[in-house]
Amino acid sequence: MARSKNKNIQAKLVLLGDMGTGKTSLVLRFVKGQFLDFQESTIGAAFFTQVLSLNEARIKFDIWDTAGQERYHSLAPMYYRGAAAAVVVYDVTSSDTFERAKKWVREVQRQGNQNLIMFLVANKVDLEEKRQVGNEEGELYAKENGLTFLETSAKTAHNVNELFYEIAKRLVKAA
Ligand code: GDP
Ligand code: MG
Repeated sequence: MARSKNKNIQAKLVLLGDMGTGKTSLVLRFVKGQFLDFQESTIGAAFFTQVLSLNEARIKFDIWDTAGQERYHSLAPMYYRGAAAAVVVYDVTSSDTFERAKKWVREVQRQGNQNLIMFLVANKVDLEEKRQVGNEEGELYAKENGLTFLETSAKTAHNVNELFYEIAKRLVKAA
């Protein structure tokens, strides 16, 4: 039996999406296992690293989080230049953020690298009673646009580790 070779992967991962959708919260949940009810939007490191092990592979994520500049609905292309993966986040309690997520997707598809792995993330599913965007809506849009779709809650940790492991798996496959 062939021995699978060790893989060391370093990948830039960027988070995109409207302000307040939970990008920083998702990263902090993943990296530190914590959640803050009042996440300060403009404060906080915009850069995190985290290592994941997957079978024989070791994936080092360089995670780029926005530091509030998404407020202006634009990000310098250098933000996602060289990114191997992009996570576009919307908030299920706000249809506006879903519409804007589609704009972020189009922008990255236009300007990002060709084989960039893109995930569409519907966050805050713990707020079921306030939901404005149905699961099927997100899923359909993702399917039509070749994105992987996941519903998450940074608050309850639902699907957060799964999100980053899925990305890691895809990166290993592509390596
Ligand atoms: P960002 O601007 O996209 O980085 O969003 P933040 O991570 O700063 O989150 C904005 C607000 O939403 C903060 O008050 C968070 O506590 C809250 N938040 C983030 N994720 C969730 C979630 O999954 N569920 C709930 N209920 N609140 C969340
Ligand atoms: Mg933030």
